[in-house]
Parts: sequence; C-alpha cells; structure tokens
Amino acid sequence: MTRRDYYEILGVTRTAGTDEIKKSYRKLALQYHPDRNPGNHESEELFKEAAEAYEVLSDSDKRRRYDQFGHEGLRRGADFHDFGSASDIFSAFGDIFGGSLFEEMFGGGQGRSRGRSGPMQGSDLKVRLRLTLEEIAAGAEKKLKVRKWKTCETCGGTGARHPDSTITCPVCKGSGELRQVTRTILGQMVNIAACQNCNGEGQVVKEPCLTCKGDGRVQGESTVRVTIPAGVGESNYIPLRGEGNTGPRGGPPGDLIAVIEEEPHDVFVRDGNNVILDLLVSFPEAALGAEIDVPTLSGRAKLRIQPGTQSGMILQMRDKGIPHLNSFGRGDQLVRVNVWVPRALTAEEKSLLKQLTQGENIHPKEGDRSAHSEKSFFRRMKNAFS
Ligand SMILES: [Zn+2]
Ligand SMILES: [Zn+2]
Repeated sequence: MTRRDYYEILGVTRTAGTDEIKKSYRKLALQYHPDRNPGNHESEELFKEAAEAYEVLSDSDKRRRYDQFGHEGLRRGADFHDFGSASDIFSAFGDIFGGSLFEEMFGGGQGRSRGRSGPMQGSDLKVRLRLTLEEIAAGAEKKLKVRKWKTCETCGGTGARHPDSTITCPVCKGSGELRQVTRTILGQMVNIAACQNCNGEGQVVKEPCLTCKGDGRVQGESTVRVTIPAGVGESNYIPLRGEGNTGPRGGPPGDLIAVIEEEPHDVFVRDGNNVILDLLVSFPEAALGAEIDVPTLSGRAKLRIQPGTQSGMILQMRDKGIPHLNSFGRGDQLVRVNVWVPRALTAEEKSLLKQLTQGENIHPKEGDRSAHSEKSFFRRMKNAFS
C-alpha cells in the first residue's frame, strides 16, 4: 500500500501555517474519532492517518525532513543526517568528525543549532550593581530596575495584527534556511544559510501589529530581585537567566548580567578578604594600654591596645573581615595603630608634658630612634599586607 501525502491527508497546501494545520487536524480528528464511529474500521484508519500526519507536520524539524525527503526522510529517524542530499563523502565526514565540527564547516550560521528554525533569542543585558563593603560582607538582596525589550501585549509577541497575519515563509517553506549545493573536487558541498526573507524564522508577518510594528516586543521596565552572596568582589558577576531582552516575535529572552562594583569605603580599605583600618590613639593609650571602641563591617567592637604599643603596629581582629566567597571562614580586620600628637595645648597641659620629659623611659634609647622603629614598621607592613 502506498502511503498518502501528509498534506493531502490533512487537506492543506504545502505552505500551510501551523495554525491552519492544527485547525484542519482538529476537524478530521473530531470527524473520525472512534467514540463517534464505534466499530467503523475505515474511520479508525483515517483517524490514525490524520494523527500521524499531524504529528509530522506540526513539528518543524520532522516537517522539514518530510518536505525534503518524503516518508523516507522520517523513517531514518534519529540517525538521519541533516545533510542528506549531498554525496556520500559527507556522511563519511560526519562519522569521522561528529556533528559539531561538521556544523562549523558547513554552516547553519548565527550559532543556532543545526536544522532548527524559529524566532531568535533576545540579547543579554548588563547592569552595574554597586555595593558597599558592608553589603559585600553580609550578603545582600537587591532590586534592580532595568529598561528592556518586553513581549508586546497587543499581539502576544507574535508581531502579527491578526492571528492569521503570520504565514509560512514562501522562500524557505518554513524551514528558516536555504541550502546551496556546489560541486567541488571532493564531491558536493552543501552550504546551509539562514533564509534572508524571514531571518531564519520560517514565518513572515503579512500585516504587522500596530503597537510593535511586527517586532513582537516593546520597550519597558521591569524589576528583578537579586541575591548577592557574601564575599563577592569587583568584576564578579551574577547571571540572571531569562531576565534579559525578550527575543523578537516570541523568541526566548536573553540573560541579565549583574556586574558587581564596589563602592569606596570612608574608613576601610579592602585587601583581598581582609579590611584595613587606620586608627589614631593617644600617647597615654599607647603607653598605658587601653580598650578602644572601633568600627567594623558589622558594627562597633572593642579593640585591646597592649601597654607599649608602637605607632605603625598592626593589630589583628580575627574573622572581622569579609567572608570567603567559595569556602568557609572569613578574612580579618587589620588595624594599623598611629600615635596621635596633639596640635594645640593649654599652658597646664604643656607644663604636665614638660614634667614627663624628666622621666627616664620617655625618650627612645640611642639606636632605637632610627633603626628599630622605622625598619620594623615597614617590615611589619609588608608582612601584614602581602
Ligand atoms: Zn505587537
Ligand atoms: Zn524563509
């Protein structure tokens, strides 16, 4: 028994659009449904035939194979090489190099996967996300307002004025691509390029939607929530899948990429996951020792100054830095002590200080003045910040 043409079965032309095919199939399915024709073998066969035709013609990939190679093209199923009409040399190449190289060599173009037609994906959007050091240390929830292409509500993204304003592209017959066969000494070369008439979409809009002029999308604004993990840094980015520009005519959306930027801090300098704080202490505090209230990224904290603390000494506040992004633990806060010298003194203060100069431990020892304090200050700095 010879098999009937699928288009003939559904009673549609070869250029029929998906809606027309669906409509026609529904009509036949209702007409021949076994529930409506109990015991009627002939209508049961017609029902099955229509279902098979619809299964093929409603699937753009299967339909394209059927258009090119008839029933034979479908029987080869999953093994079917999409470069079918070329000479055997291509099948051999395909077997040796596999699909991906083959695709690179012979096109498809624009990065779309071989044999797929349809609307293009929307582009990615990049936004800058400025964070304070406190937000970086604690992690944050942010709302991002972005201007982007959104689906046109008038046409539901189809770009068509009426449901039947979209037709199958007459140039590529809905496949979205055109193949050119050229002869070379190696055999035939098949070049597959996106159809220019429909931009590879397989469909064209006859009467465009008045709101979006046929693009299927309009400029709009949307708010996106982002969760920022603690410990991110400058130039880290957070991809938000599907939150970018929507594609033209129902194409899938691109991504939204939030690129982290760190705001300079008033008192802290970040060094990796450590934060550095410069702290002024008075001479009595440094000499006698003290407990000083200092800022940290998570509020105030007490810092113990040992008696005899030198200017330039670096004190470590463990685990008061920034959390490691991809592991446990966190950096430290490093406090650089600077002994502060008063600029103006009252007569009484002056006289008290003068009395102090009489003390035998008040002045640096000979030799300490240059060598000890200066050298070790730079060495400590280097060690602490390397
Ligand atoms: Zn529209
Ligand atoms: Zn086309």
